Amino acid sequence: MTQRLYYHDSFLYHFDAEVSEVRGTSKAALFLDRTAFYPTSGGQIFDTGVISSEDETLRVTEVADTEDGRVIHYLDAPPKSLHPGTKIHGEIDQTRRRDHMQQHTGQHVLSAAFVRLFDLHTVSFHMADDYCSIDIDTPTLTKEKIERAEREANEIILENRPIEIRFVTRDEAANLGLRKIPVADRDELRIIDIRDYDLSACGGTHVNQTGQIGCILLRKAEKVRQGWRVEFIAGQRAVATARRDYTALTETAAMFSAHIYDVPVQARKSLDEIRSLRKQHEQSLEELAEAQAAAILAGIPEENSFRLVVRAFADRDMNFLKLLAQKLTRIAPNVVALLGTTSPQPSLVFAQSAGQQADMGKLMKDALAKVGGRGGGSKDMAQGGVPNGESVSPALDGASSQIRS
Ligand SMILES: [Zn+2]
Repeated sequence: MTQRLYYHDSFLYHFDAEVSEVRGTSKAALFLDRTAFYPTSGGQIFDTGVISSEDETLRVTEVADTEDGRVIHYLDAPPKSLHPGTKIHGEIDQTRRRDHMQQHTGQHVLSAAFVRLFDLHTVSFHMADDYCSIDIDTPTLTKEKIERAEREANEIILENRPIEIRFVTRDEAANLGLRKIPVADRDELRIIDIRDYDLSACGGTHVNQTGQIGCILLRKAEKVRQGWRVEFIAGQRAVATARRDYTALTETAAMFSAHIYDVPVQARKSLDEIRSLRKQHEQSLEELAEAQAAAILAGIPEENSFRLVVRAFADRDMNFLKLLAQKLTRIAPNVVALLGTTSPQPSLVFAQSAGQQADMGKLMKDALAKVGGRGGGSKDMAQGGVPNGESVSPALDGASSQIRS
């Protein structure tokens, strides 16, 4: 068993120890007789830092619990001179540890707030590099409850209550009214006592007074399988996130020349405008296609009992071609329309009035077989994309000769 120094002092960043085992087969690692490095467990992630001897200094990149109750320190490189018995000095990355303590202790306060205010219990805790979350056992969670829990948690932080570590037996713990008792079979329990507010059994690292948490900011809340997941951040992370939010919001506000608090109203207004303009645009295109179809047909005589329209455009998209084809073949009962556009996307649309004899799908296939491209369609309407603008005219010429023959 490794002696865990962080159990008694979470602010111990420097310590001396002795190497008890060196592993260097696949991933270099060290075991020590005692350590202040925290291994990933109980939702809290591992510490990093350095381990140095008289001869070398190694970076600790990950720390984990092993099944036999020891702590394994993974290293960035295999040690050259360390062996069982070597005296080392360990140094924890303080910024990272302080951040973890702020998040983790913040979680104790937040979970306790949900219990005290609404009798809502935390079933799991997750800490990632950028945010933390708790899962709460409840079918519903309102915005009002989230905001009240956030306010209460921050009040407890402001009150700067002492946080103490106590060791008790499982029997003693049963009478203490703990918020959380672990299922593990150990007889001694480590209790984290936030004075007159929360008692829970926990093996993690915590700050000494609630004021050291700094603050708690609740973020996203969403329904998950086992209840509701509430994301939060504490301390410097909360400040950094608020700073990032402010920067994004300020940038957005500048686009609207508005105050940041008016961004939602301005964004909604813009979206409404876009929707209404899109509608107007569609209506205008419809009218344009209708008028253009009538004008085109006015100049096309009937030949062999049908009227053949062949047109290439330089700046119409496929949707407009289809709209125009639709109008052309509906205005008169005997129209065959062969349309193409060279940009933005070189394409072809072939259509005929319902009941006409030709087969537009086959005509399209034949045209594409000559110039290349992909497409197809039904007897009355077909469409296809061609490789370039230069292939549009030859494709239309070929199709019109085929129709006339
Ligand atoms: Zn804890």
